[in-house]
Amino acid sequence: MAHNGINGEAQNQTAALPKPHKVTEIQHTQIFINNEWLCSQSGKTFPTFNPATGLKICDVQEADQADVDRAVEAARAALQRNSPWRRMDSSGRGRLLNALADLLERERGLLATLETLDTGKPFLQSFFIDLDGSIKTLRYYAGWADKIHGKTMPVDDHFMCFTKHEPVGVCGAIIPWNFPLLMFVWKIAPALCCGNTVVIKPAEQTPLTALHVGALIKEAGFPPGVVNIVPGFGPTAGAAIASHMGINKVAFTGSTEVGQLIKEAAARSNLKRVTLELGGKNPCIVFSDSDLHLAVQEAQKGAFYNQGQCCTAASRVFVEDQVYDEFVRLSVESVKRIVAGDPMDPRTTHGPQINQEQLEKILDLVESGKTEGAKLECGGSRLKDESLFIQPTIFSDVKDHMRLAKEEIFGPVQCIQKFKTQEEVIERANSTQYGLAAAVFTRSVERALSVSAALEAGTVWVNCYNALHAQTPFGGYKMSGNGRELGEYALAEYCEVKAVTIKLNEQLNI
Ligand code: ADP
Repeated sequence: MAHNGINGEAQNQTAALPKPHKVTEIQHTQIFINNEWLCSQSGKTFPTFNPATGLKICDVQEADQADVDRAVEAARAALQRNSPWRRMDSSGRGRLLNALADLLERERGLLATLETLDTGKPFLQSFFIDLDGSIKTLRYYAGWADKIHGKTMPVDDHFMCFTKHEPVGVCGAIIPWNFPLLMFVWKIAPALCCGNTVVIKPAEQTPLTALHVGALIKEAGFPPGVVNIVPGFGPTAGAAIASHMGINKVAFTGSTEVGQLIKEAAARSNLKRVTLELGGKNPCIVFSDSDLHLAVQEAQKGAFYNQGQCCTAASRVFVEDQVYDEFVRLSVESVKRIVAGDPMDPRTTHGPQINQEQLEKILDLVESGKTEGAKLECGGSRLKDESLFIQPTIFSDVKDHMRLAKEEIFGPVQCIQKFKTQEEVIERANSTQYGLAAAVFTRSVERALSVSAALEAGTVWVNCYNALHAQTPFGGYKMSGNGRELGEYALAEYCEVKAVTIKLNEQLNI
């Protein structure tokens, strides 16, 4: 899952690389409930577009409240006592998750092609990074399925007391468009491993890989109703999940504003559990004792990977004054190696933004940088007039009060700032409502440890960026979210703990 190759070093020998599939027709465009494909009850559909060309790929059935109700009914039925899913032993759940991982491996080329068609991200990134991360996450949680267990408590010897970890119930999930397949798997894998059932809504911009995986879930042998997929819009299908009385937990990845709506809807309905992975304004701190070439490469990966459409994007790069000018010079030089173009072309490392709305938001922030006095080092506009491509853009001399330094950009814009002392940079790095990720570049182990202890962020990378692994928890401090995904920590989000206390007729003989 670690991100490599943004500047094309993995793509010199294009002949040996995997090729996109020729997709003439999209197979799965319907709502997936009870292992069956359904039309929406309203009869409505919505189009999904290829951001690289602006052309419609296909129409997809549009789920709303009525379809979400039906999906929840199926998910509840699949959880009934004595249902095949409830009766399945824990290693059976692990076997099914591994079977699904095998099917993702079998369909890797097609899934990567669908992901690139729907998001515009370069095909090789879909193939190597998104698919790799998805498969590893499924296998990781397959391994946990039969290792989830409680404890025995040393209470007084008139009682026997132990805990059981049970599924929470029906888990709703609402996911974004920047990593559609990976986010789908980050939600379903821990939920299923713990024995829950799922109703999941992909983002309206990117429903295709989730629906294709629906077919693979059925083929893998998951019982009907265990996973239900409801493509549709946020204020309709998404809101129906967040406020549903039959859903016990909702996991959301997306904007902080929508995260607040989800938590409010959960509170007002049935107090369902909520986990949130939200925005970030992540500091990347480069000390003068760091390996500067490494820092430039990693900071750029942080800023430009996935066209900057990452909640972990390194959008505030703080550089110590002694190496500041050199860092800016090397960054401007290095950005020239990013190759924008057809996302299906193996040489391409930079694709379009997801849609017009996002493009305009990013260009507005770029304009604010120019008018507020940041120095535009390169880029700063669209690549072609009508396209959704934005040039990789670097601003230096960014000041803390500027919008560029405060707002989440979600586009290919690197903002470089200067600092003088360690205390000062820690203070500035933490002065944000967000706390998702941060990075430190230094050769000093002591400095790496003390700065990472001081940073208010759920993830701190030292001498690397965007290094994510299925084993390692991920989530935010402050307004970047609640709870953790991935790793052993995610299991707690998907289990209820039941304490069983047995009164003994005789005092234990010890
Ligand atoms: P972005 O602005 O990047 O599209 P959002 O937070 O709006 O991010 O979207 C992330 C996910 O949240 C998508 O699946 C979207 O459909 C969903 N969503 C948007 N608005 C709502 C809402 N009011 N209630 C529930 N889900 C929503």
